[in-house]
Amino acid sequence: MKATRLFCLTLLFTTTVSLADTASRVQYLANEGVAVFHGETTLLFDPLFQTRDAYYAQVPEKTREAIIKGSEPFSNISAIFVSHYHLDHFDPVDMLRLMAQQKSTQLYAPQQAVKAMRFASSKDQADIFERVIALDLDYGDAPRIIQSGNLTVQGFYIPHSGWPKARTDVENIAFRVTIDDVATVVHLGDADAHNEHFALHEHEWQEKEAGVALPPYWFFDSADGNDILDTYIKPLRTIGIHVPAAYKNAENIPKEFEGFDLFTKPGETRPLIER
Ligand SMILES: [Zn+2]
Repeated sequence: MKATRLFCLTLLFTTTVSLADTASRVQYLANEGVAVFHGETTLLFDPLFQTRDAYYAQVPEKTREAIIKGSEPFSNISAIFVSHYHLDHFDPVDMLRLMAQQKSTQLYAPQQAVKAMRFASSKDQADIFERVIALDLDYGDAPRIIQSGNLTVQGFYIPHSGWPKARTDVENIAFRVTIDDVATVVHLGDADAHNEHFALHEHEWQEKEAGVALPPYWFFDSADGNDILDTYIKPLRTIGIHVPAAYKNAENIPKEFEGFDLFTKPGETRPLIER
């Protein structure tokens, strides 16, 4: 199965040139931050965060400001998805700034992240939370399904990497989002790569195949990780995220990840494949 993905990637690599601003596309922000553009719809995954050192890339300052202020191409953000409350994925203060600025944006986030935002917010920001959808899920819970306008949002609780020994207190949500019934993107956050988490909701996963999957890059280095992609997510295109910043120089990419598609340079794009 792994061989199939490697083969497909050699074809996909030929289409990774930068695309016109109007094209349906997936754009790398940094770390696990990704923007999705499709027609009038813009989605952001894990867009605002802090990194303590340079091990993971930070969103370029100009891009971060454009996201918060809503300047082009981020002027019309329909929805934002936060996978989990770790600082290298989610900054509650920056998210409050964005939500205050952009009055029609919806935010989907695990309960832990929403609590941190409430804690950081002032009284006059209470109305922001009318547009915040907190996903209060535990391991084993049925996925949460929300239909909102042209978006179908499905949130699956998948434990953070390190399970069952470490970081088991972190609520990590894998999002599967479909735009206009035609473009489906799966963002896994810091999902732990064990089949059993996905087998729990096999039926729901198999109801819809993804156009684009965005797994943490350690899925590529794991037999279960590759199985999960092939068996449950079934994407036409897979791009690894959460890649160390050093990988922007191809010679720093370890052998086991060679041939897999990785987002390594903030700003780079891939076409958004419909499905
Ligand atoms: Zn994390």
